[in-house]
Amino acid sequence: MTSSPACWAAFGAVLAGEYADRSLFAVHRLSVDAYAIQHPGQPSAPPAAQSVGLHLVRLTLQLERGLTPERANAVMVQLTEHKARFHWLEPPASRGEITVAHVAPAVEPAQHEQAVRAWARSALDAWQSHRTAVERWLNLAYVPYRNSYLRRCGVTRSLRQS
Ligand SMILES: [Zn+2]
Repeated sequence: MTSSPACWAAFGAVLAGEYADRSLFAVHRLSVDAYAIQHPGQPSAPPAAQSVGLHLVRLTLQLERGLTPERANAVMVQLTEHKARFHWLEPPASRGEITVAHVAPAVEPAQHEQAVRAWARSALDAWQSHRTAVERWLNLAYVPYRNSYLRRCGVTRSLRQS
């Protein structure tokens, strides 16, 4: 991850606000993901490709599959087993109109949450051209996760019927 000092300082302020107010924890992972994919680093550093891939997946799970931050994170943790299959994605020319600089001044909780959601949307949309790769990686962990969840639900039902 590479970022300017001003950007890094603004991100620090955003995180501090989120740690200080429990109600903002719901959007905390969106902030981390949005920042990471807007600062993708260099292709010469292999962990960068994996980091960007993991954050793109977690963001997609939250914004497009409607997973709670906890579930999206659980899938991402399982996905780390497959991260050797991730490859570098050429970062888009524009990383999104909304950045951490727009979020940092929004200190009032409702405002902050709204700003983070707009930021996360903007950051993810910027990577739209890599959607196919992101979906493929996402499914490596999401499909098994969803199936085991459904199985657990099935077990609960059959127990109740007996
Ligand atoms: Zn920056």
